Amino acid sequence: MLIFDAHLDLAFNAVDWNRDLRMSVLEIRTHEITLGMNDAGRRTNTVSFPELKKGKVGVGVATLFARQEGAINHPFGCTTPEACFAVAMSHLHYYRAMERSGWMKRICTRGELKQHVSDFNTNPEHTPFGYITSMECADAVLTPDNIREWYQNGLRAIGLTHYGPNRYGGGTRCEVGLAADALPLLRLIEELGIALDLTHLSDVAFTQVADRFNGRVLASHQNARKFCDWQRQFTDEQIKFVIQRNGVLGMALDAVMLQPGWVRGVSKPEVTLECVVENIDHICQLAGNCRHVGIGSDLDGGYGFDQTPADFNTIADLQQLPALLEKRGYSPADVQSVMHGNWLRFFGEVLPN
Ligand SMILES: [Zn+2]
Repeated sequence: MLIFDAHLDLAFNAVDWNRDLRMSVLEIRTHEITLGMNDAGRRTNTVSFPELKKGKVGVGVATLFARQEGAINHPFGCTTPEACFAVAMSHLHYYRAMERSGWMKRICTRGELKQHVSDFNTNPEHTPFGYITSMECADAVLTPDNIREWYQNGLRAIGLTHYGPNRYGGGTRCEVGLAADALPLLRLIEELGIALDLTHLSDVAFTQVADRFNGRVLASHQNARKFCDWQRQFTDEQIKFVIQRNGVLGMALDAVMLQPGWVRGVSKPEVTLECVVENIDHICQLAGNCRHVGIGSDLDGGYGFDQTPADFNTIADLQQLPALLEKRGYSPADVQSVMHGNWLRFFGEVLPN
């Protein structure tokens, strides 16, 4: 079954982590073991282009990801907005380069999305990974007006914040509201028809965005606080807001967002894929239908299979989800909605003609 994954940091892995995503997942692991790489997330990667193909993850959202840090000379992220801009542009150009060599296919319009799905259904083996461009956080948007340039470069979804506060507002693990520059940026996002990703907003920033933004919203990699009770996950009220706005939430595979009390570098996976199914079911119960949940795996987003469900090894294992959903009583049509249909409908409405 075709899978749409609404959150993959492919360029972050290829450019910042210098991984050759044309290799198999196993080859990349072996390579990192041979080189003696021991940092968190190394040797435990789960995503590469051959693995996407194996898992029939034929279409999704690929991120531009650059975060500005407060401190200088930190190991992760950038020191200035200009460096964020440069890193995000490098991610954009990685995707362009992968298009030239036939591994990826950019999707900017409704027509391109429709054509891509048709190509995939006709010939999955020889159809490149179709991607819609998003930005994980707006640190690389130099000034609000700069969003126009990103849009012209194919950007179709954006989140304002990541971890902590940035120039536009408060993100995960802080309770800071929107900054003054967020207001003109939100207006332009709405005007251009870019989808706003609510994932990674602080609770207070979420409420402020809800009051001020009337465009389309999604939550690309977003689980429920009901099962994993800290701020990174959405409360039922926040989930209901996304549903009311006809948005979709993507289920993330990061154990930090699934397993209560996870401590990075200490905890071991105890939850299984059943926990992802619990999250899916919870959103369907809140919605009263199966139209607002999809996959947004966030795989290899700075961690590996040592921080995913215990019965998970590579992105191809997402194909275990349909059977688990069927076991729960989900009809084949509803399973399809969750695995790809809801995101295809959402972006089919959001993308320009
Ligand atoms: Zn994220």
